[in-house]
Amino acid sequence: MPTHILIIAGVLAVIGLAGCGADNAEQQSVNRMVYVDTKTKQPVVHEIITPVPAVNPATGERTLMPGLYCSTCQTWYPVPPPDQINSRPNAGQCPKDKTPLTTDGPWPDGESPTGSSLVGGAEN
Ligand SMILES: [Zn+2]
Repeated sequence: MPTHILIIAGVLAVIGLAGCGADNAEQQSVNRMVYVDTKTKQPVVHEIITPVPAVNPATGERTLMPGLYCSTCQTWYPVPPPDQINSRPNAGQCPKDKTPLTTDGPWPDGESPTGSSLVGGAEN
């Protein structure tokens, strides 16, 4: 199943880039992040899109929510969108162990938050 997600996401990315015009040709850093499918609980790397829930390219269903990572569970959890997360004090915490969730988790499917050009980049 992850293979299908990758293929479909890749195709959509290509289509999206091709349709964006050449103005931002030098800007290769596509703004992507990890979403979590609230139905399958699977983390999905996707271009940043609003509003959420967003359509999961793999299923065609509007089930993608922004994902945050729990370092204790080593799991991505779906969270409310940024404009709503502030009104939910517990939204930024792991539902199981209350560990503060972070965007700084390992991306699924071998993807990298910084792209393939940066290897061993310095964090902080
Ligand atoms: Zn946890």
